[in-house]
Amino acid sequence: LSERIHAQDDLPAVTKDNCKLSLFVNAGLSLESENNINPDSDGVGLFRTEIPFMMRQRFPTEQEQADLYRDLLTAEPNKPFTMRTLDVGGDKPLPYFPITEENPFLGWRGIRLTLDHPEIFLVQIRAMLTASIGLENLSIMLPMITSVSEVSEAKRLIRQAFYEVEEEALILGQRLYMPKIGVMLEVPAVIYQLPQLAKIVDFFSVGSNDLTQYLLAVDRNNSRVSDLYDSYHPAVLSALHTIAKHAEILQVPITVCGELAGEPGGVVLLMAMGYRKLSMNNHNLLKVKWIVRNISRNESEQLLAKVLTLNNPQDVRDEVNSYLELSG
Ligand code: PEP
Ligand code: MG
Repeated sequence: LSERIHAQDDLPAVTKDNCKLSLFVNAGLSLESENNINPDSDGVGLFRTEIPFMMRQRFPTEQEQADLYRDLLTAEPNKPFTMRTLDVGGDKPLPYFPITEENPFLGWRGIRLTLDHPEIFLVQIRAMLTASIGLENLSIMLPMITSVSEVSEAKRLIRQAFYEVEEEALILGQRLYMPKIGVMLEVPAVIYQLPQLAKIVDFFSVGSNDLTQYLLAVDRNNSRVSDLYDSYHPAVLSALHTIAKHAEILQVPITVCGELAGEPGGVVLLMAMGYRKLSMNNHNLLKVKWIVRNISRNESEQLLAKVLTLNNPQDVRDEVNSYLELSG
């Protein structure tokens, strides 16, 4: 099987009935994946910037951040690279910025923390922009968005940083491009604000890990309730389907970057829902491409219609797995 998977390295991710998907990688989890962007991917769909912050003893300086981001952006300058702003809090602590809370996943994390500390946010955005001088591949993504006003405030800060860095670039005779700005869809509240968000962002990216956790009210790291945490729960599938339909109507480019996008069953269902961009861990990329090349859009849509009538995540799995087995 592994030989068959590798034999298609250079082929595109296209279904048997000619539906093309773009496959991106999630980076930042290890130094190795930070420094080698998989040449088989269409780019980086999610760079978790908090990981380099977590590996240090103090906040990295603007220069340190800019140097790291520059290395990343220049590695494949012609492929899109989506950097997510700092998403600490929740399960991701910084050793030098302790936060003690009873409910960290409902607390001060992601954009909530960085908007309360605009100096941290501005330094990071300035570093990203400085790193992108002369390049056009940077996109900036905001985590844990709950309200439209958070996006407006973040965009105001990004514009401020942009004008500062642009001035520095012009002095050097270089050009700074305004990056695309998008939001993570991972707090269920945003499902009901998609038209409003669509007016002020360039793209959406579904964080299926947190969306599952928050829709089902199940801590994604609590082993006592781990069997309740399930992205194949009918409510999660229905939410993902709704998001895909709205994004299409609103004409906002959309990616899925949670773990589901790297799982065979997830790939089939997400493709059937209309998602065409998936971002996954590096080690899943070739497997996912292989799945895509062996399924059909038409059959997957029929499978999805059936799956959406089921009440039990295990029945969904069984149904999807039998389709995958049939597909080879
Ligand atoms: C997610 O929530 O699905 C996601 C991709 O972000 P993280 O896993 O870093 O919270
Ligand atoms: Mg998340």
